Parts: sequence; structure tokens; C-alpha cells
Amino acid sequence: MTDMRLVAKALDDFGDDWHWVILHDVQPVGDRQFFASRVDTICGIILDEGGVTVTLHDTGAPDQPNCPKCLGEGVSPALREEIEAVLEAAEAVPVPVR
Ligand SMILES: [Zn+2]
Repeated sequence: MTDMRLVAKALDDFGDDWHWVILHDVQPVGDRQFFASRVDTICGIILDEGGVTVTLHDTGAPDQPNCPKCLGEGVSPALREEIEAVLEAAEAVPVPVR
């Protein structure tokens, strides 16, 4: 199973920081739609558990989060490279489909 990482806001709030959001065990299910077993951020915000379908919207996310915790240590240069490669494919924000 694969994890997808992207820069997104955890809350539907323009005042929120941009975070590294992780879609766990992600599987494509349709046009710009993905099923993830769990959605959370590197800094520990849990957005969804138990399986959720998200639709990716292009929101003009920046290349890097501005959440200090997401930018903190724990991200190795190799992982950061991997993240940046993923971001080239998907700069988007996940929105749960209810
Ligand atoms: Zn964060």
C-alpha cells in the first residue's frame, strides 16, 4: 500500500497553516478521487480514520508547508526529495466526500 503526501490545510479555514497531509494506503477510485484508510498530518492532526474517499482540488498550495511542526526535524533529505516528487504530481487539498 502507498501513502500520498501533499501540502494542504488541515482545516477548512483560510487562517490555518499549510501542513504535510498524508493519505495512507491510498488507492485511486476515480477522476481525482482517492480512497485512503486514514488521513492525517505529519504534525499529528487526524483528519479521518476508518476509510474515506477524498477528492483532490487544485488550491494553489505552496511547495512547502508553513506549519513549523510539519517542517521540523524528522523529515530526512531523502524523504523530502520523495515528497517533492509526489508534489509535482499533486499539489492539491483533500476534501472528504460524505
Ligand atoms: Zn502541521
